[in-house]
Parts: sequence; C-alpha cells; structure tokens
Amino acid sequence: MMQHEPKMRKLIDGAAKFGLGLTPGQVEQLQVYYEELVSWNQRINLTAITDYEQVQIKHFLDSLSVALVVEMAGGRSKFRLLDVGSGAGLPGIPLKIVFPEVKLMLLDSTAKKTAFLGYLIDRLELDEVEVLTGRAEHIAHRGDYRQRFNLVVSRAVGRLATIAELTLPFCQIGGIFVALKKGHIDGEIIEALRPINILGGKLREVKKVELEELEGRRLVIVDKVSSTPQLYPRRPGVPQRRPL
Ligand code: SAM
Repeated sequence: MMQHEPKMRKLIDGAAKFGLGLTPGQVEQLQVYYEELVSWNQRINLTAITDYEQVQIKHFLDSLSVALVVEMAGGRSKFRLLDVGSGAGLPGIPLKIVFPEVKLMLLDSTAKKTAFLGYLIDRLELDEVEVLTGRAEHIAHRGDYRQRFNLVVSRAVGRLATIAELTLPFCQIGGIFVALKKGHIDGEIIEALRPINILGGKLREVKKVELEELEGRRLVIVDKVSSTPQLYPRRPGVPQRRPL
C-alpha cells in the first residue's frame, strides 16, 4: 500500500473547521478504517469511493458533519446513538471514533456488511458498539430498541418520508433524528412534513453544512416530540413503496 504522509491531512483540516481537534489515536483509527474499507471492498461491495482524499472528505468528514448535532444531543456525556442502514459504518463509526463515550448501534439488513462492521469494531478496539443485522421495519418493534435512542442518524437509505418511518420509532421523546442529505431536497422535505408529524416528530431545521469541501450537503434535523403510534414502521418494503 502507498505510504500517505501526513496521514488523513484532508480530514484533519476539515474537522478543525467543524471545531473538532482529532487526537493522533483517532487519526490512526480512521487510517486503519480506510485501509480495511478498501481491502474488504475488493471482496464485498461496500463503497464506490476508494480514493484516499475522497474517502476522507465524502465519507469521513461528511459523517463528522453530524458533530454539531451530537453536541446538541449532549454528546460529551454517554448517550445512545443509532445508525440506520449503516452499510460500511457511515456515519456511525467516524462519530464513535470522535465521540468515544457514545453507545453506538449499527443496523443494516445486509449480513455481508454487518460482517465487515463486526470485524472493524474489533480491529479498531471500539467498545460499547452493537452491530445488528436486520430490517429497521422489524427491529423498531422490539421493546429493547423502540424509543430508546437519544440520536438516530441515517445517510443514503432513501427519501426523507421513508427514512423518517425507519428511524423516528427508535428515537426517545426529546431525542433527535438527523438525515444526512445532499442536492435539491426541498420537494423531499415538503412531502415528509406530514409523515414526520404522524410519526411523532417535528422538523427543527434544515442545516446547510458550511464547508467548501462538502458543498450542497444538508442536515435535516427532526425533534422527537411525541410517541410513535404502534402501527409504525409498517411491514418491510412498505415505507419505501408507499411513503406515508
Ligand atoms: N449509510 C451508508 C453510507 O452512507 O455509506 C450506507 C448507504 S447504502 C446506499 C444503504 C444501506 O441501507 C445498505 O447497506 C442497505 O443494506 C441498508 N438498508 C436499506 N434498507 C434498510 C432497512 N429497511 N433496514 C436496515 N437496513 C437497510
């Protein structure tokens, strides 16, 4: 493998603009994450982005844009974070590396991806991380997970109206759901307002990520204000086929 010196320079510079100073240990963990991602990607399809700088920006820095909201949710103390449709661990793992106090759960329906996640967590020696293989439509009905998380995040899993149904049931009242989005999302937001309300949420803010490297990125921030009716989420596939 090519020697990259200094390691994770793009990421370190970008994270500083978010007010995050990465320790040498965190930089090393993110470097190992990059190497394992690229290595496993030769066998299972984890990402289309493998270039060293692009991974730092489009995967790691993009994930860390949620830091602003982690602080909002009380991030320096212990709290429960869930990443729905985590894939190769994004945005959950970079957030766990930078906020080690957080109790993280990574959920994905694809066993090959959760196999990678399980391996990665051992490799990075991360504690208090749970990896679950399953569909959000099922897992969100389990009493030990329903309305149990302070912060639920999701990136690239679907349109806002659909992912609201897959995420808000996991949020405790007073908690927050954040969707990482890019591009033109005005239409998506308008169509999601009613579903968010039905699911017990209230749109707080659509926050532009103020970083040149992450042009066009938005954080859709939703407060969980009341209990999600037991009916939701509906059966697997329904939130996607027939959004509320
Ligand atoms: N969040 C990662 C990222 O941004 O790189 C992965 C995005 S990938 C396009 C979507 C992931 O969501 C896939 O890994 C897929 O298996 C998972 N997924 C889709 N629907 C799901 C569901 N209903 N429950 C759990 N995982 C789901």
